[in-house]
Amino acid sequence: MQITTDTVALIDYTLTNDRSETIDSSEGRQPLAYLHGQGQIIPGLEKALEGKTAGESFQVSISPEEGYGVRNESLIAEVPRANIQGPGELSVGMQLHTRGAGGPGVVTVTKIENDTVTVDANHPLAGQTLHFAITIREVRAATADEIAHGHVHGPGGHHH
Ligand code: ZN
Repeated sequence: MQITTDTVALIDYTLTNDRSETIDSSEGRQPLAYLHGQGQIIPGLEKALEGKTAGESFQVSISPEEGYGVRNESLIAEVPRANIQGPGELSVGMQLHTRGAGGPGVVTVTKIENDTVTVDANHPLAGQTLHFAITIREVRAATADEIAHGHVHGPGGHHH
């Protein structure tokens, strides 16, 4: 069976960056299960998986535009230390959850200087070319419930 809209695919993946550093991998874990055609994974990866079948392995490099987006410098802000409420000490690289006008989000602390903290709301992988090594473990038709819910049930998915 080929991966197409409204199939469930289980994939093993390793994601590396341009410096060949591993950013994420399913190794040692369950394969990733996702519902194809629903935008659950980044567009470039979804496009690369279209039409593939169980047992296939391939590598694909995905541009930022088809990955987590290009970096947007206007998403970097300096805020007074006193405006940040949270547990414990702040440190560079720490991720903070925010509840702004645009809804909940995550920002990364990129600089701390005296009473000013610089935070960056770009996705940590924005602006990066992503290199995936993929093996497809299983492809099956999605159930009516899965299509209605927009997510996978069972192994690697939701249990409810
Ligand atoms: Zn469900």
